[in-house]
Amino acid sequence: MISGRLFRPFQWLGKLTPAAITSVYLFSSLCWILIATFTMDRLLAGRPELRALAETVFELLGVFSMGLIVYILISISQARHRASEARIREQAARDGLTTLFNRQAFDEFLLQSVEYAKRHRETFALLFLDLDRFKVINDRRGHFVGDLLLQEVGRRLTETCARRGEDVVARVGGDEFAVLLRQSEAPEGPSVVAQRILDSLAEPYMLDGNAINTSASLGIALYPADSDEAMQLFKMADIALNQAKQQGRSTFCFYGGEWREERDQRLYLEQGLLRAITHGELFLVYQPKLDTGAMRVIGVEALVRWNHPHLGVLGALSFVPLAEKAGLIWTLTEWVLKAACRQAGEWYRDAGLDINVAVNMSPSVFGHPDLEQAIQTALHDGGLPPDRLTLEITEESLMIYEAESLEVLERLHRMGINVQIDDFGTGYSSLASLKHYHFQALKIDKSFVRDVVTSSDDAAIATTIMFMAKCLDMEAIAEGVESEAQKEFLASIDCRFMQGYYFARPLAASEVTAYIARLGVQKKPD
Ligand code: C2E
Ligand code: MG
Ligand code: MG
Repeated sequence: MISGRLFRPFQWLGKLTPAAITSVYLFSSLCWILIATFTMDRLLAGRPELRALAETVFELLGVFSMGLIVYILISISQARHRASEARIREQAARDGLTTLFNRQAFDEFLLQSVEYAKRHRETFALLFLDLDRFKVINDRRGHFVGDLLLQEVGRRLTETCARRGEDVVARVGGDEFAVLLRQSEAPEGPSVVAQRILDSLAEPYMLDGNAINTSASLGIALYPADSDEAMQLFKMADIALNQAKQQGRSTFCFYGGEWREERDQRLYLEQGLLRAITHGELFLVYQPKLDTGAMRVIGVEALVRWNHPHLGVLGALSFVPLAEKAGLIWTLTEWVLKAACRQAGEWYRDAGLDINVAVNMSPSVFGHPDLEQAIQTALHDGGLPPDRLTLEITEESLMIYEAESLEVLERLHRMGINVQIDDFGTGYSSLASLKHYHFQALKIDKSFVRDVVTSSDDAAIATTIMFMAKCLDMEAIAEGVESEAQKEFLASIDCRFMQGYYFARPLAASEVTAYIARLGVQKKPD
């Protein structure tokens, strides 16, 4: 091997090209022949006894030195080969964009770490994180800025973990990153490192002239407390990450014991969901929306429930997000649309009630090619005029989908269907998109309504949304109204449309008719 001390003087040869190496070889052979000829012909011309000896010495030295040169050249070529192999291996282990390790390499590290930790009775933590709302940034600012953001995140992660020496940082998916923390390197514990990572990623970014704010959510799984199997640890860190997201993002969570139960429950629910949709375990409840000026019901919001055979009645939040994950949200939405239109059609035809019914639409259904068709079929089958149907969409829907997918909103508006922005104020929507599409109303999110009497910030937000709706020629509906004081405040800022437990909880279809009858209601025009 050329790395030995003996050959260190020849290291420079390693930089030569094959042609240069051949030239060195030929040149040194030529020099040797010239030295030998010169010595024989000039120095030993008259001394035949020494000449025979010199010839033997030259021949031996020649064979030896040529052998040495050939050996050096072969060693150089082998060293080069090894170096290029190592380079190729290194490149294959790296992510092209961030130069961090890629998923494949990380899986390999994880397997090795499990083996090592088993042998040395060590513990380690697997941190799995992803950026909050990366898709929105990517769609809004373009892929170039998205790429710059990922590179910067990679740099910050490396910087945060680099001082710890042996931590392995990898990009394991689009906006997903993983860090492997060895216990010996993490005396302060994974939670401190996790918080440091989140703080560093939450710092503002300046990318190609764009000021960008983002944050990350992070899940932690521990070896061997959570699992002693590499891929299982990854799954657990992923579950912990989802938990962190549900807790409001920009936070971290451990995969803990109590979660195992929750995960089992999630799997259990996910498995039963398709059966629930197809076997009639779902039903709708309807929460009235009121015009508090005239104290009359202007419509109802359909909210889905699951009458689970073993767990009883489940609220929307315990299974709608699961339906999204399990790819069942479209089937669920189609079912809700049909059931809501059928019910409203019945009220309209049979009880003569002029009730508008609202259906919640998850962002992911906006990309579905059959959306318009499904709405038309539901209206047709239910015998409901299109202007008695409202779709409640969130601001996220406006952000996620490209303009073409949202053109459907324009066509639905032309059909006479109302669209309202639900949970307004909790997401990001541009004034341009609010103006561009014809939204009938903004629903002030219940998180602002809750403290509207006690928090001047929430009061200011509610007042601003009212003002904004007025300027944009839309209505505003306050949701989650639970008290007289909230109602009074909202009335004082000219918000007359309200919904909440104060007026009515979500009701069964038969209770809606009774509720409306109690209030004294609008009949459909004859
Ligand atoms: P949302 O559309 O904002 O619905 C309002 C939620 O607030 C409902 O919860 C309702 O029961 C609750 N609520 C109403 N008044 C009050 C109040 O005064 N105080 C409080 N604290 N809460 C109140 P629910 O039914 O559990 O639904 C939660 C979310 O699940 C809904 O939020 C909606 O985003 C989603 N969801 C419900 N049904 C469906 C559905 O059929 N399809 C889809 N895609 N999502 C649905
Ligand atoms: Mg809603
Ligand atoms: Mg809402």
